[in-house]
Amino acid sequence: MRGADQPSNRLVCLGTCPPTHFSTMPSFARLFYTLWTSPNTVLGAGLGLIVLLSGGRVQVRRGVLEFCGPAIRWGLGRFASAITFGHTILGVDQEALDRCRDHEHVHVRQYERWGPLFLPAYVLFWIVLRVRGRDGYRENPFERQAFEETE
Ligand SMILES: [Zn+2]
Repeated sequence: MRGADQPSNRLVCLGTCPPTHFSTMPSFARLFYTLWTSPNTVLGAGLGLIVLLSGGRVQVRRGVLEFCGPAIRWGLGRFASAITFGHTILGVDQEALDRCRDHEHVHVRQYERWGPLFLPAYVLFWIVLRVRGRDGYRENPFERQAFEETE
């Protein structure tokens, strides 16, 4: 993951990112969405800690913690380039984070809307679609919204 062009520290872009929908919200709304998404963010941060302990790195972009590293490539690489949990995004590498950021931020907003119900709802849609012989990923309403807003 770290080559000669990679920064030596594991935390970059703190407080230097452009404003986002989240950073422009009134403070009470930010507090609400932070708390509402916190179970998922804690899950993502816990996985991110494993990524850091295995030689990965973290950065803050658009108000979201982004992790990348070998552990994600090992665990996620066969299925996806990146995945979002609340206000965290896990990517297989920096290029994947940069390429998938807009798509994953649609999921961040979905987590803010659905809170702890997001993952059960996502999985339920996936199961219903698969049982009906359809594509649980591409036809999932959460993914369709993310693709429609970013393609
Ligand atoms: Zn997606």
